[in-house]
This record gives sequence, C-alpha cells and structure tokens, in this order.
Amino acid sequence: MPKILRPLEVYGVLPQTNCGECGESTCMAFAAKVADGVVEITQCRPLFKDPKYKSKLQKALEVTRPPVKAVTIGTPPYQVIVGGKRVMYRHELTYHNPTAIAIDVMDDVDADPLIKRAKAIESYTFERIGQQLRLNLIALRYVSGNPEKFAKAADVLSKNVSLPLILCSYSPDAMEEALTVVGDKRPLIYAATRNNWKEMLDLASKYKCPIAISSPGDLNTLKSLASTFISTGIEDIVLDPGTFVRGDSLAETINIFTMLRRAAIEKEDKSVGFPLMAVPAVVWMDPEGDEVEKKMKESYVASIMMTRYADLLVMHSFDPWVLMPLLVWRQNIYTDPRVPPSVKPGVYEIGKPTDVSPVFATGNFALTYFLVRGDIENAKIDAYLVVADSEGLSVESSVAGRRLTADKFAEAIKSSGLNQKLKKKVLVIPGRAARLSGELEELLSGWKVLVGPRDSSAIPEFVEKVLKKEMESA
Ligand code: SF4
Repeated sequence: MPKILRPLEVYGVLPQTNCGECGESTCMAFAAKVADGVVEITQCRPLFKDPKYKSKLQKALEVTRPPVKAVTIGTPPYQVIVGGKRVMYRHELTYHNPTAIAIDVMDDVDADPLIKRAKAIESYTFERIGQQLRLNLIALRYVSGNPEKFAKAADVLSKNVSLPLILCSYSPDAMEEALTVVGDKRPLIYAATRNNWKEMLDLASKYKCPIAISSPGDLNTLKSLASTFISTGIEDIVLDPGTFVRGDSLAETINIFTMLRRAAIEKEDKSVGFPLMAVPAVVWMDPEGDEVEKKMKESYVASIMMTRYADLLVMHSFDPWVLMPLLVWRQNIYTDPRVPPSVKPGVYEIGKPTDVSPVFATGNFALTYFLVRGDIENAKIDAYLVVADSEGLSVESSVAGRRLTADKFAEAIKSSGLNQKLKKKVLVIPGRAARLSGELEELLSGWKVLVGPRDSSAIPEFVEKVLKKEMESA
C-alpha cells in the first residue's frame, strides 16, 4: 500500500508549541500542509535548530521521508527537486515535484554557439492558464574526448545561464575536471556504472553532488549499486534503468519503470526509492527514420515516460512543437486533481478602460478566464472583466449546479467598485448564463444586462454587431 502521510503522524513529531514561526497559527495546521505535500518539514525551524528536539527531529525525518526520495539538483534559487513521490496514482494524492526536463548540449562546440543554445533553452517559455511553462536543466554531454574541453564548457554554461546542470560523462577524469569548476553548483553527476562506480562514488562524496546510477537493462546491478551507495551515506541518487525505444522494447521500458516505482512505493524497497530518469534523446541513436520522425518519436516517448514514471527527462530536440505537448501534459499531470485551476475573483482591466467602457462578466475557472480575456483583447475594445467566484467550475456547469448565481454576479459587480465609477453601466454576461439575465437586472438597478455569445470566440463579432450600438444608446 502507498505510504500516505497522515497529519496526526506529522503532528506527533512536531514541537507542538504553536509558535507560528512556520507561518501557520498552529502545529496541527502545519502538519496538515506537510501531509498534503504543500510545505516541507524543514520550515518548522525550531525542530531543526533547537537541540532539545533532537530525538523528535530524527523521528520527523523518518516519518516524512517519501518512499521515493526527493533529490535536489543545483543550488538556490535555481535548484530543481526531482522525486519525492508517495503514491502510484494521482487520485491518491496530488503529485509534487513535476518531471524535470533537460535539453542536451555538446562540449565540442565553440563558446558562442554553446551559449546561444543554452540561453535559448533557459529562456524558452510559454504561458498556459496563467502559468509560465519552462524547461528545467541543461545536460552537458562529453563528446569531445577532452576533459579540459568538458570542464571549459561546464564553466561557460555556469557563467552564462542559471539552469542547473547535468554533467554527462562515464569518464571519472572528465567528471572530476568539470567538478573542480562547477562542483559548488551541485550539478547531477551522470553517471556511475558497473565499470566506474568507485571513482564516481568518491566524486559524489567529495563534491557533495547528486549522482545518477546507470545500468540499462540490468536491474540487479542497478539495485546493487544503489545499495552500495546508500551504505556509504550517499543518498542523493537518481536511477537510470535504461530507455529502450525500438519496437517492443518501449513497452518493456515502461514495465521496468512501473515495476521500480511499485517496488519503491508499495513494497518500500529502499534500494530503488529514488527518482527515475529516462532519456528520450536515445531516439537519435537509431539509424532508421528521418529527422522529423525522430523528433516526433522523442516527443511521444518523453510523454509516455513522464506518465510512467520518469522524474527527470533528458531530451535532444529543442523545437516548440516537440516540447509544447510535453509541457502541457506535465502541467496537467501535476495539477491538483481536487482543485480546478482557477483565478482570483475580482475585476480585471483589459486595455485602458474608462468610465464609459463596457463590463464583461464570467466565472473563475482559469481556462474560461483566459479564453474570455483573449477574445475581448481580440475584439480590440477597452473593457472591464468581472470574474465571479464559480468555485473553479466552467460557466455552464456552475450555473447548472447553482454555484454561479445572479446573486454572485451582482455581488461581484457591487464589490468591484464599478457601480460608482461608471457613467454607462452595460454588463455582458456569458451566453451560457443567459437564464440569469432577468434576475440580474432586478438585482443591479441602473444596469443594462446583455447576453453575450455562448462561445467566447464570437465576442469580437458581438462587439461589432451588438455591443457598440448598445454602448452608444446607453
Ligand atoms: S514552527 Fe514548528 S513548532 Fe512552531 S507552529 Fe510551526 S510547526 Fe509548530
């Protein structure tokens, strides 16, 4: 069974003084947030600082350690946390620590193109339902065969971009050369294998960096190396069981990842209780297929592995059409399924509205808000958008379920201050809330209530054909 943390278990290991240092008014409130994975136990500073809580601290670390350890790559404020999972399925508990995505760069290129690609990776972003979706790491690959070049490239990257690094080399010499210049930035060492593990273990210990253990297709070695590392006190480990993508081998890769995650969470097997790493970039090693086919394959392999159960992905393609579906999928998987994405109710200005501008109203489901906002912007009209609390539901569902009522719209308008501010009071409600228009006109005296289109994409046409005339006559 998954080890779901209970608030009372956490409460039992807290100081129970209700001092408020963590920002919560009581230890119980803090315990509930730790159990939910919203805050870390480390935010209870008295527990970590006051020697009298030494034995409680020991217990707290044991109780709150997730079956899949959370591993930090990089240093604040640019660190990435991978793993930290407690459950197999999202309906059991919200997933935390979204799968980190790394894009590779080679150490055999000159500084300028290296910086150019790295900066492009770092600045790649797009907004979706109010969140900026981004890439997380840069994986520097040792292809030059020259340890000095590898170290130089690591140095150039660390001086020009803030994203944490994965240093990819099986050569302990090259790894040490790079760690001497960027070891203090806590890069992920990739990778210890059955051939180099002693030297790599020493480097992880010396530079206090997280380390990946790679044993493609050989789980016994993977487990055995992880156990050896744990026995020496190295526990910031990432496991790379291998990513095989040709023919049926992709199904086998998914099986292996699922098996490892099941062993960690359901059987509490500590030797595999670490974040899993997949490398969709291996599709580029396949001699078959053209460039477009490889990019498509890399995108779907990455999406599949993110679903089952990769905590870290290393990719080669850097095209928006490859990455966008992956980032959107990640956003969906890592959204709390109990809480619909929503925006804060209130009044939002679109353009530069004045005291004669129209008012649009909608619910606070994030997708609705951003669509409506975009469609008003497309109509090229300055307006107010009043967002009523529909409890994060779409307009149609919330009106049908009486979560969004005429009272709520009226209250939102009254508390917006627009009653006093506007000379012309014209309110456009969504077509899907048409049934509320009569009641709303009774509640909002002096306002003209118009029923807008059922689909917000028709707002520009509605503005041209209906709203402008109504505003003139208002
Ligand atoms: S800081 Fe710790 S002791 Fe203080 S209220 Fe928070 S959980 Fe309780």
